[in-house]
Amino acid sequence: MARYIGPVCRFCRREGQKLFLKGDRCFSEKCAYDRRAYIPGQHGPTHKGKLSEFGTQLREKQKVKRVYGVLERQFRNTFKKALKTRGVTSEIFFRNLELRADNVIFRMGFARSRNEARQIVRHAHVLVNGKSVNIPSMRLNIGDVVSVVEKKKSLGSVKLAGELYNKRAPLSWFEVDHEKATGKILSHPTRDDIHLNVRERLIVELYSK
Ligand code: SF4
Repeated sequence: MARYIGPVCRFCRREGQKLFLKGDRCFSEKCAYDRRAYIPGQHGPTHKGKLSEFGTQLREKQKVKRVYGVLERQFRNTFKKALKTRGVTSEIFFRNLELRADNVIFRMGFARSRNEARQIVRHAHVLVNGKSVNIPSMRLNIGDVVSVVEKKKSLGSVKLAGELYNKRAPLSWFEVDHEKATGKILSHPTRDDIHLNVRERLIVELYSK
C-alpha cells in the first residue's frame, strides 16, 4: 500500500494546529508549528484568504486524514464502510480509524508516532492473538491481544515510546503492560477518546455530496 513519505510538519502549519505526527519532537522546542505558526509557502505569513464552505469541509477532512496517515482512497473507503454500518456514521468512522493495527500500536505506546507504528507492523514485529501481522490497515476487534515480538521488546524506540505514552492522557478502551509489551482491546473507542479538534460533521457533509 502506498504511503506519504514527505515532510509532515507542514501539515500542522497548514491546518493551523498541532497534529502530533512526529512523536517526542512534537513536545520539544524543535516543533515547527511552535516556531512558525503560519501556512507554509511563500505567501504563508501574509495569507488572509477566507475559506468557502467546500474549503472548510476539505480542511477538516485533510486534518483527520493526515493525523491517521491514510491516503485518499483508503480514507474514503473507510468512510463508505462506516456509512453502510448501522449507527452514527461519524462515530463508526472514527472507531474504524482508531482500530487500525498501526493506530492501536501507537495508542498502546509501542511506537512514538503512527508512522513508526506502521513501520513496526510492516516489518512484522507485531503479533495479534499470537499470530504475526504485517498489514497496518488491518482492523482489530474487542478482545484482540497485541504484542511486540520478543526480540524487539528491548528496542530503544519501543522503550522511548513507552515513556511518551506515560505523558499522554490515559485511555480506557484497552489495557497495556509495557513490561511485557502486550496490550488488549477491552471496548470500542468513542469520540471522546480521540482528543482531536475536528468538526466531523463537515467530513460527513463533504463525502455525502
Ligand atoms: Fe506538528 Fe509535531 Fe511537527 Fe510540531 S513537531 S509541527 S506537532 S508534526
